[in-house]
Amino acid sequence: MDSVAHPLRPGALRASSLPMAFRCAGAIRPSQIRLNETNDAASTGTAMHEVLRTLPSTNRIDWDGIGEVALRYHADPDETRLMCALGVKLWNQVKDSFSGAMTEVRLACEVAPGITLTGSADLLAVSQRAMRIGDWKGGRKDSDYSHQFKAYASMALLSSDDIDEATGTGLWVRDCSIENYTLDRAAAQRWLDSLLTRVVKWDGVFRPGTHCAHCSRSHECEAHNALIRRDVAAIADKSLVVRTECEIEQMSAEEIVSVLNKADMVTRYAARVRGAIKAHVERHGDVVAPGVRLTIEEEQRREIDPAAAWPLLEKLGFEDKDFAAAMDLRATRIEKIVATKAGKGNGASAVRALKKALVDAGAVTFTTTTKLQEKRTT
Ligand code: SF4
Repeated sequence: MDSVAHPLRPGALRASSLPMAFRCAGAIRPSQIRLNETNDAASTGTAMHEVLRTLPSTNRIDWDGIGEVALRYHADPDETRLMCALGVKLWNQVKDSFSGAMTEVRLACEVAPGITLTGSADLLAVSQRAMRIGDWKGGRKDSDYSHQFKAYASMALLSSDDIDEATGTGLWVRDCSIENYTLDRAAAQRWLDSLLTRVVKWDGVFRPGTHCAHCSRSHECEAHNALIRRDVAAIADKSLVVRTECEIEQMSAEEIVSVLNKADMVTRYAARVRGAIKAHVERHGDVVAPGVRLTIEEEQRREIDPAAAWPLLEKLGFEDKDFAAAMDLRATRIEKIVATKAGKGNGASAVRALKKALVDAGAVTFTTTTKLQEKRTT
């Protein structure tokens, strides 16, 4: 099949869509049914981008304004604050490479008739005959984003005859790590050729995989549906369950990763089904089938207001050690109060001083939890 049978919508081809497009070019074809899904992680990333924008010009961020920015983008303020703190830490490691950087620079180049590759560089620094483009990444480094960074480098090279090479840099905030792709003009042309072949002139073959979970067409994609059916059948086969429980040492690393991906896929879809049924029962009442009823059960949790309870407990003879034994102090709430009391411009230093004082006083204990995560190795 040729590209005419699977046209891209004329207009912009966003650099940020390329990590997905290079895995399956079908993902960026027009969707028949468009969904509007919100994503908390994306909201936090947007808020983080906004706060970090002042770093190149002032070498600082507005710590006291983080809560307001987070609210504006419907992001979690504590998560946003954490991401911004990590962003500042990473900035201090890379700032010499981004000296005098401009922010939010629009890049574009026509890659085929009517198709323009576009992107917005979070950071763009020019030095002698080279450019460096930085892209803040707030998500997890769980798959290959190289094509997005190569797209920035290629667009920068094509935007100026005065440079010989450009580097696209992924700034991975959570990991405090960077990922560089330096292209000269010949390498940029090779990359643009591969963009044309694999994405613009798509062969019409859908390439499903774990990336389908992030594809905006997954709700209507038959290839993805076939993959789900395959994974559900594999996980439902008890021999696979027994093998994973009892013979995992004999399984190859690839097999273990593949089984985990299948299990995660099934878990995600099962959770969606459960969520839809719960929402139905909440809206329309119990579902009654022979011998069984689906119903919503309420559980009450007690919360005691410390300010209201304090005088009562004192009357009952509570002393400092009794209050300490009965209470949990939440670090983020304490830090927020200390930052507010310190006033605008002094919040961050007051919180840093508090953290140190608490550690020095032996008031902090660290516990370690574990979670299984999939991370890219290169
Ligand atoms: S759901 Fe998967 S296979 Fe289907 S278009 Fe998206 S990425 Fe491709």
